[in-house]
Amino acid sequence: MIDILIELALAFLIFTTILLVVRTIVFQWSYGTVERVEGVPVDEQQVAEHLAACVRCQTVPLDESGTPDPEAFRQLHQMLETTYPLVHQKIKREVINGYSLLYTWQGSRPDLEPVMLMAHQDVVSAPPEGWTHPPFEGRIVDGFIWGRGTLDIKNQVIGIIEAAEILLQQGFRPERTILFGMGHDEETGGVNGCKVMGKLLKERGVRLAGIVDEGGGIIAGLAAGVHGPVALIGASEKGYLTVEFTVNSQPGHSSTPPPQTAIGILARALTRLETHPMPVHLRRLRPFYHGIGKAAPLHIQVAFANLWLFGPFLKRWLEPLPEMNASMRTTTALTIVNGGLEDNTIPPEAKATANFRLLPGDTIADVLWHAKKVIRDERVHFKPVEGKFNEALPVSPVSSPAYKSLRLVVRQVFDNPPVAPFVMLGGTDCQHFVPVCDNIYRFTSVVMDERFRGLEHGIDERIPVEAMAKMVKFYARMMQVWGQREMSASPLSVINSA
Ligand SMILES: [Zn+2]
Repeated sequence: MIDILIELALAFLIFTTILLVVRTIVFQWSYGTVERVEGVPVDEQQVAEHLAACVRCQTVPLDESGTPDPEAFRQLHQMLETTYPLVHQKIKREVINGYSLLYTWQGSRPDLEPVMLMAHQDVVSAPPEGWTHPPFEGRIVDGFIWGRGTLDIKNQVIGIIEAAEILLQQGFRPERTILFGMGHDEETGGVNGCKVMGKLLKERGVRLAGIVDEGGGIIAGLAAGVHGPVALIGASEKGYLTVEFTVNSQPGHSSTPPPQTAIGILARALTRLETHPMPVHLRRLRPFYHGIGKAAPLHIQVAFANLWLFGPFLKRWLEPLPEMNASMRTTTALTIVNGGLEDNTIPPEAKATANFRLLPGDTIADVLWHAKKVIRDERVHFKPVEGKFNEALPVSPVSSPAYKSLRLVVRQVFDNPPVAPFVMLGGTDCQHFVPVCDNIYRFTSVVMDERFRGLEHGIDERIPVEAMAKMVKFYARMMQVWGQREMSASPLSVINSA
């Protein structure tokens, strides 16, 4: 009897091991190396000066609703026109809703679906205090271009148009039409810029084969367990939901309190919300670790290849890391709480606000249902705050020609980093093009290092001169590749691919 049990256990062990190995082999893969593409010649100093001139146009919204400053935009459009004469001669430019720009570089094959490269022209405000060089003077010092917008995202405005100017000088003409979409109010939601542009494209019956907008960069140390740099391509965006919770109760004097006050009832509800977050979806991280391939250590590959066995361990490991946690679940953040005015008076009302960021797959209705279930208290009323909610965006495929060629171009230009899809935690103008495009990717072509990473919207925002030049090469290569009928980055240049 014992013998049989031992044999059974042994057989099970062997079976499990084989399964683990097979699943891991199927999961992991090697990129091989692609041949580096030198790309178009770029005059580093000149492109730095162009970005600096762009920074000097203070396209900061005049108020919270994003009212544009007409003079700043006039100056910026003028600067682009005089700096890039060929682009403005050969590429059709439309001004949408007064300030946004839509360029149409007509391809020789109008039967092909166009592609679009995006950036936004507006920047957030920058009070000059604390800056090493004033935020709107566009100084070039110590190998950096300094100022508001150099990372978010005037670098991309210049990167795209500079690349087009160089390609036009070389006589390049795409087969596939290439659009440049440059909104003017992304930082305040894009409702007057890209939303209008998206509608216009839809009215015109345009379907886009691919979009690249701002997003992840080439970053080290973001993914748990992976040490080297990884090129992060946003394939989706989390949704947004702000909910207000209200409790009303009998007001009175604090000397004779009821068993529970509005504050007590609300506090219990908030604690329950925080301690019962929406469930983790480890599977959502699988494409990311799969995308990294062999750049992830073996034990992580084994674990992600075999979630059925290692899921609970992975969950325990990743949940405490805020960025990983946010990548695999809808997060709950309690952000505002209000109630009571006098130390000796029981208030009639207590209010709180929570902000949820929705993982693609979870809907606003799911979150509201979850909150109701978790709080389980009829005295707590809640509703979404008007204008402060939107569903998560659909996940763009990683099997499309648009994604595959983007991945290859990133590897050609930036020396073979692993490339992986991820869910953007913040929003971009891309949301306004979901009705006209299934292949929307968010990638900012900069190798972010600790000297300047995370300075978007902050003090001393700056970009290395050489990184700016590299961005131009990236966009030129993208236009060459996406501008072709097959959108292929010449598979012949792939050597040693496994
Ligand atoms: Zn931005």
